[in-house]
Amino acid sequence: MMDCKKCGQECYRESVDVGVGVIHGPWGCPCCGWSDDPEYDCSEGESPATKRTGFHCGPTGMLDPTQPIEAFEVLKAAIQRDESYAWSWHCNIAMPYQDEGASHEQGNRAAARAMSTIFGVDVTTFKEWKPFPWAIAIANAQPQGRQSE
Ligand SMILES: [Zn+2]
Repeated sequence: MMDCKKCGQECYRESVDVGVGVIHGPWGCPCCGWSDDPEYDCSEGESPATKRTGFHCGPTGMLDPTQPIEAFEVLKAAIQRDESYAWSWHCNIAMPYQDEGASHEQGNRAAARAMSTIFGVDVTTFKEWKPFPWAIAIANAQPQGRQSE
C-alpha cells in the first residue's frame, strides 16, 4: 500500500497476472490525481500521457478511450509551442492561395490571418517572415491601422 505524497489519501494501482508473475502499474491517488510515475501525474492538470495520447489518462496509467480530449486543442497547443511547426502550417496554407493566382505577399498575408484567427499565432513576428522583401517594406513604412474588411 502507498499513501499519496501530496494529500495522504490511500493510493491504488492496476495489477495483472501474466502467468510468471504480476505486473503493476504506477500508484495513483483517486483524490488529487497524484501518481508515482510523472508520466501519469494529473495532480497539476493534464498528465503528459494525456497530452501525448489525446485521451484522458488517470493517475494509475489507465487510458479512458471514451474521453478523447479535443483533437483541435491538441493541434492548437502543438502549433503554439513550436514555431517551426507553426511555420510549416503557415506555408501549407499560403501555397494554395498562390496556386490559385495570389501573389507571394497575398498568399502569405492571407495565411498569417488564418494562423492568427484559427490558432492564435502571429507568424508576422517569426524570423522566417521578416526577410520577405514586401514584409521589410511594410515594416519600414508608417505604422498602419488594421485594414477595413
Ligand atoms: Zn492525493
